[in-house]
Amino acid sequence: MTLATITDRLRAAERNAGRAPGSVTLIAVSKVQPPERVEAVLDQGQRVFGENRVQEAQGRWPAFQARFAGISLHLIGPLQTNKARAAVEMFDAIHTVDRLKLATTLARLADERGQSPDLFVQVNTGAEPQKAGVLPDGVDALVTEVRGLGLPLVGLMCIPPAEAAPAPHFRMLAEMAARNGLTGLSMGMSDDFETAVACGATHIRVGSAIFGSRVG
Ligand SMILES: *Cc1c(COP(=O)(O)O)cnc(C)c1O
Repeated sequence: MTLATITDRLRAAERNAGRAPGSVTLIAVSKVQPPERVEAVLDQGQRVFGENRVQEAQGRWPAFQARFAGISLHLIGPLQTNKARAAVEMFDAIHTVDRLKLATTLARLADERGQSPDLFVQVNTGAEPQKAGVLPDGVDALVTEVRGLGLPLVGLMCIPPAEAAPAPHFRMLAEMAARNGLTGLSMGMSDDFETAVACGATHIRVGSAIFGSRVG
């Protein structure tokens, strides 16, 4: 598939859901993809990208940013506190805030720098032991804490369990966001982004459907 195909499918999904065209942000997930594939997608005009490791992003994005204006980078993988400084220097948005300790570190960095990336709280909607994210019953408390730190919290993010039907997870996330007065919903990947858009996604994270399967 190509970027154009995915963009067309996204526009159709927006239309079918009664959403305004362009209201959903397409994050092209470039993790592990060879640089020539990333460059091809940049050449086609895409400017919003997702990476799941700080170090990988640091390794390649500065060179692309020197050549292409207007790039926006989103961190979609787990963030260790000791990588927080590098993350806030590199990323325009962080989708994986899932504990108070990390939020406290991000708040300290925001005070120091006078700015912060947009933040999403990651929710482990399937309560999977191996998965990052705050458990559903801890979401409201963490949202309150993150707001209390003065951080720019824009929404919630989830990755449904691989074997589960995604829609109930997307609806759960939308309900949690609504009751907390949050408008951002980062949900939907290559296999389920149309379902996510129907459930209210504002940010979809699509990797292999744009770039091809990950080689690494
Ligand atoms: C890799 C990844 C994606 C993209 O997955 P695809 O199935 O390739 O679209 C989206 N979100 C997160 C958090 C990821 O780690």
